[in-house]
Amino acid sequence: MATLERDPALAAADPEIARLIHEEIIRERDTIRLIPSENYASRAVLEACGSVLSNKYSEGYPRKRYYEGQEVIDQVEELARQRVQALFGAEHVNVQPYSGSPANLAVYLAFCKPGDTIMGLGLPSGGHLTHGHAVSISGMFFKSVPYGVRREDQRIDMDEVRALAREHRPRLLWAGTTAYPRQLDWAAFRSIADEVGAILAADIAHISGLVVGGAHPSPVPFADVVSSTTHKTFRGPRGGMILCKKEHASAIDRAVFPGLQGGPHNQATAGIAVAAREASTDAFKQYAHQVVSNAKVLADALSARGFRLVTGGTDNHLILFDVTDKGTTGKLAAQAMARAGLVGNYNSIPFDPRKPFDPSGVRIGTPAITSRGMGHAEMHRIAAWIDEVVAAPGDEARGARIAAEIAELCKGFPAPGILL
Ligand SMILES: *Cc1c(COP(=O)(O)O)cnc(C)c1O
Repeated sequence: MATLERDPALAAADPEIARLIHEEIIRERDTIRLIPSENYASRAVLEACGSVLSNKYSEGYPRKRYYEGQEVIDQVEELARQRVQALFGAEHVNVQPYSGSPANLAVYLAFCKPGDTIMGLGLPSGGHLTHGHAVSISGMFFKSVPYGVRREDQRIDMDEVRALAREHRPRLLWAGTTAYPRQLDWAAFRSIADEVGAILAADIAHISGLVVGGAHPSPVPFADVVSSTTHKTFRGPRGGMILCKKEHASAIDRAVFPGLQGGPHNQATAGIAVAAREASTDAFKQYAHQVVSNAKVLADALSARGFRLVTGGTDNHLILFDVTDKGTTGKLAAQAMARAGLVGNYNSIPFDPRKPFDPSGVRIGTPAITSRGMGHAEMHRIAAWIDEVVAAPGDEARGARIAAEIAELCKGFPAPGILL
């Protein structure tokens, strides 16, 4: 639960946690947040999440609950559902999943039996753990047939997807990514799913804000079911949601509750309602387009400085670059960047010769810095800083100097939700 830094109750009751939250506020304020799955929720969203709604049990769905006292909660959940439904033009919405991974588990529970064949983009190609990776329950309980990207251009090979689908006839076909800088061809996935009789599940955890803002094509007309987080480009609280066709509404609802979860996190549901209202504005549309435009400028600037970008660039909010030619590793580069105030993450690149715990790539993105109002001029400065750091990851004096420059820049771009 979020805590408001001006509320004195926590500082009095638990000075240790209050101090740690304060330190995190300063860290989030004074560094450049480049992890593409992170963002800044607004003050309004944080306030909803820090409310008494967290106290209430409400197993079930509006007007079909197991405990009394739901007259307020029912309205909160209905508002969240209706707003999300309107934003995406979806036939049915469930806002109860605790996060993106539980949302995906609910999709499995709704459509699959243990041992069924499922297909998704492999983790090394930019897919998510929950799409059938071996260490995830999705790879343990189902027969996972991953597809990949082409070696030449690192793009998803739709011919391979089609050939594998014809051969293995999956029950469920995932289209969704976690480290892939290009748009997905929803219509092509739909036609493959139709050809083999698979359920098409689009996972837009990373890009739901871009979809709402019109900066990425929507899978809603194509997919049977669409899952998402609510805390990435959507800029809501940490949570999950599932959109689906009417015919799957009861299967999805039953999978989330009672299939998988107990009482929903009502404070998060309220936060989702607030975020959905914010996402319905013209300002949010501009935000979504600026995220992509910033990413393209940052990608071009890095390219011009000799960084090899996976797929050569970006069409969304995310950039994956290979630091091998720069003479370092993804982990060393990401750690040095973080010390300098440029917080991204080390990441495998397609066909990475290195191990996942110290891979060749670094993954960055523009959702959070765009929420702070940064634009093209700042993208050029960030590219220059990344270049300086990666050229000498061990140079601590250089890192400290850049960290100070970044803290100075951040003063001009207040982060949503942070008052200090
Ligand atoms: C982030 C992400 C998830 C999981 O979300 P959590 O909230 O971390 O559980 C699922 N799918 C994709 C594609 C993601 O990027």
